[in-house]
Amino acid sequence: MMSPPFSIVFLMTILGDRKAMSEWISIYQAANSLEAHMLKGALEVAGIRVQLRGEALAGALGELPANAIEVMLLVKPRDLESARRLLARYQQDEQPAWYCSQCGEHNADSFEICWQCGHEPAHPHEG
Ligand SMILES: [Zn+2]
Repeated sequence: MMSPPFSIVFLMTILGDRKAMSEWISIYQAANSLEAHMLKGALEVAGIRVQLRGEALAGALGELPANAIEVMLLVKPRDLESARRLLARYQQDEQPAWYCSQCGEHNADSFEICWQCGHEPAHPHEG
């Protein structure tokens, strides 16, 4: 009974990892540097390494304000799934809350009417 060629499998795993290490996949186009850094922070807290691309352009162009530059977020292939899930959750959280036009109270998006005065939002959200 022959033992399986562990060394070859091991070598392929290393090479595969090395290849993955050098690959970054763009996952999200942030509207500006601020959003990019916020998302980068959120992902890194979850243990996902993030690279930003596009910021260098801002420095090169000089005059353009930082918030006018779109920044691409890149993650490693192995982090792609969890990063997508995190970003999806982030975007759900981003559902705009609304302010009551009657009393100015801040309401979560899920509230159909103002929890403070019962007023309906001026622009009912979809969904
Ligand atoms: Zn109200």
